[in-house]
Amino acid sequence: MKYDYLIVGAGLFGSVFAHEAQKKGKKCLVIDRRSHLGGNVYCEEIEGINVHKYGAHIFHTNDKEIWDYVNSFVAFNRYTNSPMANYRDQLYNLPFNMNTFYQLWKVKTPAEARAFINKQVQQEGIKNPKNLEEQALSLVGRDIYEKLIKGYTEKQWGRKATELPAFIIKRLPLRFTFDNNYFNDKYQGIPIGGYNKLINALLEGVETRLEVDFFQDKTALMSMADKLVFTGKIDEFYDYRYGKLEYRSLDFKHQTLNMENYQGNAVVNYTDAEIPYTRILEHKHFEFGTQKKTVITKEYPTEWSGNKEPYYPINDKRNNEMYIKYRDLSLQDDIIFGGRLAEYKYYDMHQVIASALAKSKKIFNAQ
Ligand code: FAD
Ligand code: UDP
Repeated sequence: MKYDYLIVGAGLFGSVFAHEAQKKGKKCLVIDRRSHLGGNVYCEEIEGINVHKYGAHIFHTNDKEIWDYVNSFVAFNRYTNSPMANYRDQLYNLPFNMNTFYQLWKVKTPAEARAFINKQVQQEGIKNPKNLEEQALSLVGRDIYEKLIKGYTEKQWGRKATELPAFIIKRLPLRFTFDNNYFNDKYQGIPIGGYNKLINALLEGVETRLEVDFFQDKTALMSMADKLVFTGKIDEFYDYRYGKLEYRSLDFKHQTLNMENYQGNAVVNYTDAEIPYTRILEHKHFEFGTQKKTVITKEYPTEWSGNKEPYYPINDKRNNEMYIKYRDLSLQDDIIFGGRLAEYKYYDMHQVIASALAKSKKIFNAQ
């Protein structure tokens, strides 16, 4: 065999796995159907600004081992995500914190804010939240739900909040301090010089081929390597035999503007239902850029269909049950499935890296 591993997908999972395999003396070939490496963390340089082509990517983790791992390839800056929300032309701080409560109700102390929220939560009288709407109402009450959650969530997912799993909203912190940090994690930042630096360092010395679709040439590609690592859609791998898993997609509209500073923040969310996009990114602010021009991106959520990119798994009951069937089937094959698409999980970057490291450790330590 020419290669020990054929790795389908040059995203974070494929790149970390390839790096670890190469460290153990394994020969890898990484292929990707896209025209660039990095999967969804890929950045394109425009006007000297690293533009996150597939949406805002902020690295955050609580795990020192993962933080040290990524920092061993590239230095990270001190960027702290603190998005603003625009609801009907009023601005609010995110995540839900004392600044937001002051903007909403003019309450000035944590005790006042708690009393306000507790009263609203009690009015809902929800004991065991069964979906995203009930979960949100029982955490923050109706006011915040109506202004900052409902519209955003329903356009993001294209479904009613009553039909979405509760866990999605638990990603957002709720705190009673004046702290606009979107994440609770100990470590956070953006690679200095962009994510491509991280990917290029991970894949240094690894053979890569772009614009190669695994399914176009499956037999020939598989015959080149002993083992397969697959980071694409697991349902596609098995010819959709149990049905199609659902995903949510996005259209990104990038614009270069002849001005220095468009919105004063990297991320502004639009939380009402009427505006068709969910957020506007201004990329230079991820790296404190001082370029003369600026690049912004509007994110328009769309339904996923065959010719779109499957960005978000829709982890409701029906899809999760279907995924379990595919996962059980995959356990019979000697193939490594990993990453957001192959594990059908709403993974963040640090979780994908942790998963790739855990899988590679298990394989290479056993050898
Ligand atoms: P991907 O990056 O999707 O890589 C899979 C690769 O496989 C792709 O390049 C694809 O082209 C290739 N592929 C698939 N099928 C085939 C095939 N048949 N043949 C050849 N190649 C194939 N995480 C954070 O931690 N912080 C954030 O702020 C954050 N923001 C995000 C914002 C958006 C809009 C999105 C969509 C995701 C965000 N994430 C964020 C999540 C992050 O992007 C993922 O956790 C991570 O990039 C997933 O890596 P992966 O390798 O699993 O998948
Ligand atoms: N969300 C919301 N309002 C916001 C931001 C987020 O209601 O202003 C909800 C929405 O349901 C979203 C979820 O919280 O899908 C998770 O948000 P996050 O910012 O983590 O989403 P991602 O960056 O992964 O798209």
